[in-house]
Amino acid sequence: MVEVASHALDVGAVPTTGGSSTDLQLTASVETVMGLDGTSGGELEFAGVVPAATVQRLACDARIRRVLLGPNSAVIDVGRALRLPSAAARAALRVRSGGCDWPRCDRPVAFTNAHHLVHWGHGGATDVDNLVLLCYRHHWMVHEGGWQLARVEHDRILAIPPTPSHRTWIRAPATGVGG
Ligand SMILES: [Zn+2]
Ligand SMILES: [Zn+2]
Repeated sequence: MVEVASHALDVGAVPTTGGSSTDLQLTASVETVMGLDGTSGGELEFAGVVPAATVQRLACDARIRRVLLGPNSAVIDVGRALRLPSAAARAALRVRSGGCDWPRCDRPVAFTNAHHLVHWGHGGATDVDNLVLLCYRHHWMVHEGGWQLARVEHDRILAIPPTPSHRTWIRAPATGVGG
């Protein structure tokens, strides 16, 4: 059995307004989406290489297609495009949240994307219990800015500022990816 060199995720869509897709293509290894140590970033159409944190943000709310590559980058298999989260989950989110879920943010639904509290690359479910809506700025702050979100009580979301070590972690992922 030939070793499979890498998996690639072909992430279609970078929705900017309520999930209506602009169909930018992002290509990244499954290890990058999972946030494993020492992985490179992804390749975003028209933008070039983007860091792993950006890959994970874009993959939060996107159409995903698995492309299996062989050792010489030959395409072995192409999976069906999968919408994460599903249209049903998105509809439920829109009704429940009514806009960005960040504390005191008033951006309306049309300016939000779905965010997985536990990323699907880490095994997080794509149901409404694990999803919140975030505007572009707040989604960026979670993935690239080191903020963390926690759900307290029913639907109250707590935004926790980055720890001082975050910047180091961004530059040199070394040990475990904590939360
Ligand atoms: Zn996200
Ligand atoms: Zn917001």
